[in-house]
Amino acid sequence: MTQPAQTSPTPQLPAMTLADLQAQMQHWQQPAFRAKQLLDWCNKGVLDPCEMANIPAPLRQLLQENLCCQPLKLVHRQCSSDGTRKYLFALQRDRVAGKMVESVFIPEEKRGTVCISSQVGCVLDCPFCHTGTQGFEANLTAGEIVAQVLMIKHDLRQEPLADELHSDVTHIVYMGMGEPMANEAAVQQSIEILMDEQRLHLSRRRITVSSSGLVPQITRLGAAQPVNLAISLHSADDAKRDILVPINKKYPLAELRRCLDAYPIGKQRHITLEYVMLDGVNDQADDLATLVRFVQPERERVNLIQFNPYPGSPYSGSSKQHMKRFAQQLISQGIRATVRRSRGDDIMAACGQLKADATIPNQG
Ligand code: SF4
Repeated sequence: MTQPAQTSPTPQLPAMTLADLQAQMQHWQQPAFRAKQLLDWCNKGVLDPCEMANIPAPLRQLLQENLCCQPLKLVHRQCSSDGTRKYLFALQRDRVAGKMVESVFIPEEKRGTVCISSQVGCVLDCPFCHTGTQGFEANLTAGEIVAQVLMIKHDLRQEPLADELHSDVTHIVYMGMGEPMANEAAVQQSIEILMDEQRLHLSRRRITVSSSGLVPQITRLGAAQPVNLAISLHSADDAKRDILVPINKKYPLAELRRCLDAYPIGKQRHITLEYVMLDGVNDQADDLATLVRFVQPERERVNLIQFNPYPGSPYSGSSKQHMKRFAQQLISQGIRATVRRSRGDDIMAACGQLKADATIPNQG
């Protein structure tokens, strides 16, 4: 299931560390301090050497000729009435050039969350998910994953949101297009870059990886970088989950249970179990009972998600009242449960709705 790690033949600037850039400067016989200057631009989301004011022209030329400074091109941006922004990016790398991914910025009063993509399309095929209908097209590199965050930071600085909303990136969730754990190497490398103190220096508490349950990869993530974990559960019954999350046939609930029990969570942290509420499919009394039996209330919480329909989707969502009742019943059994507020659904940016539309005209 894990795809081979994608690497770019040309080093991608957003994936470079200070040590990488120092080595590069030495190779080009440039002063060492240029490495830090370049990294500062990069961290601000300024990836075009022409915009790096304190970098001399000959070095700009070396950068343009030898590195891939801008692995993504912003093709389109949509803004929701609630402040959510959806970005469509085109890959620039050979062989996958022109393929599209989407990312979403979700502002709140005190935090700004970027939902990033890890694949073009998805290797899996969950029948309620719009991305899944696209099929798998490509794995992103670490540089392309990090570039989504950097370019959104840059956009927010150029055009901040209304005063009451946070206009910078404080949290990252790997919940956009793709199954992050099926692109394990690039995702792990991108996490290291986001946490690097010379780069965005994000704490692991501010990074969440969402997986549909690739057990060996989640176990390795926990050993290497125990960031927050979210699991697309959607049913605690194997027969139903085999249909809703087909990877369950390979890693059934008992295996997933063992994996979650062993995942290292710090004090006051918990694993989030995502549960999209589908009318008449997984929202009945017996679904609730199996869910209650599955959840470990001390370590896990349930996040109920409103189903966001997309053209041709075979399911309809449970009503808001029913979702509230379902949540209350979980809470009455001692389980932390929340109903996720849907954001950006007027621009198809809500959970499960992402699917890059290559027909959107280039609006830069
Ligand atoms: S829900 Fe996640 S894993 Fe399943 S098809 Fe959609 S993007 Fe892929």
